[in-house]
Amino acid sequence: METNFTLEQLSNPDIAESETILRKCVHCGFCNATCPTHVVLGDELDSPRGRIYLIKEMLEKAKPASNVVVKHLDRCLSCLSCMTTCPSGVNYMHLVDHARSHIEATYRRDFSEEIYRSLLSVVLPRPLLFRYALVAAMLARPFRLVMPKRWQRAISMVPWSLPSGSALNSLHLFPKRGKTRLRVGLLPGCVQQILAPNINDATIRLLSRMGCEVVTTRNIGCCGALNHHLGKTSKARTQAQANIEDWTRECEDNGLDAIVVNASGCGTMVKEYAHLFRNSTTLSKSAGLISKLTYDVSELLEHLGYEAAIENKISSKISVGYHSPCSLQHGQNVKSQPQNLLSAAGFSVTEIPENHICCGSAGTYNLLQHKLSEELLQRKIANVDFLTPDLIATGNIGCITQLGLGTDIPVLHTVELLDWAHGGPKPIAIPQAYGV
Ligand code: SF4
Ligand code: SF4
Repeated sequence: METNFTLEQLSNPDIAESETILRKCVHCGFCNATCPTHVVLGDELDSPRGRIYLIKEMLEKAKPASNVVVKHLDRCLSCLSCMTTCPSGVNYMHLVDHARSHIEATYRRDFSEEIYRSLLSVVLPRPLLFRYALVAAMLARPFRLVMPKRWQRAISMVPWSLPSGSALNSLHLFPKRGKTRLRVGLLPGCVQQILAPNINDATIRLLSRMGCEVVTTRNIGCCGALNHHLGKTSKARTQAQANIEDWTRECEDNGLDAIVVNASGCGTMVKEYAHLFRNSTTLSKSAGLISKLTYDVSELLEHLGYEAAIENKISSKISVGYHSPCSLQHGQNVKSQPQNLLSAAGFSVTEIPENHICCGSAGTYNLLQHKLSEELLQRKIANVDFLTPDLIATGNIGCITQLGLGTDIPVLHTVELLDWAHGGPKPIAIPQAYGV
């Protein structure tokens, strides 16, 4: 694609990077076929190619974001399916991140929208505040029908009770069992540790049994992904910097062989720290090291040679429908590992059809774009119903919550099933009928 930036514009490293990305696009439109919003809406401006043109126009003319640009970029899920499809290697992720940051700096949203986005930015990354917000939402549930649609949607996602207790509440170091293999840092996640603390518990149990010493450093916090996708780049950088410094200290004081993340949206973000701080004189080296050390839990388990326990009694009659989170398959290129591990654990695994299409969760997307999110969920559930598995496995808390809104089939994190097959307790979400 031809571009027309001035030399002065190109002296800005962010503009220079976006220009390089734009020049790679050959307008072929292959990406349109796998873009969920284009598939659903059929509008060129809701396709990756259309959005790339909108971004080019906005950045080239150094214009404040217009209503049209904001409408169509807000509808983008950042699912990155277009990046997997693109034959020219267009890095849409870095382009849209830059565009979102430009929107945040130049566009004034209406007051209620601004307040809503600010609330998400403040509450979701803080586990204690998030817990209080969930309790408030539970109390507000009887009045939801008189609330605006998006608040109704938000309240519909709140569980009826909050799980209590997690190993993470009291301990920060989880000694290895058996022979020492690796010392790994665990990102506990913000929303996940409140909604599904069982996921961290299963991760810690399994890695400990496989000889890892698992540590959650005391000051580790939100990875920054929520703010990053809202275009609040400086907040995201502050959160990322705090994590980089905390993990770097741990690496220097006690050593870390790996950082393990079990929420793929967060994993994609931590792997992006190197890019986020690429121009920083003080942080580029440590950010690069942290990104390099980071693995999705399925990558680490494959590396450790996961096998089910010898006395494994998981029946191969239990069918598992695997839903691949976009952040895992498109953001981290982790595709086969979770399914291979589940098969090794003894389950009968089948990919849910149209696995490349987002379920509509996408971070805060289901709270901001509830209509499109709901449409994508219904499409995904139709594919689930076609397969009718006994269980659904996936690797991101956002997908677990979203899919749970549309089906009664239990939705679990892959690591919960792997822990079970490796001698851990049966996950509470699994019906008695599948007992061992
Ligand atoms: S990130 Fe997803 S929704 Fe956005 S343009 Fe690419 S494929 Fe479409
Ligand atoms: S597939 Fe790649 S090169 Fe083709 S239009 Fe999409 S982003 Fe551009």
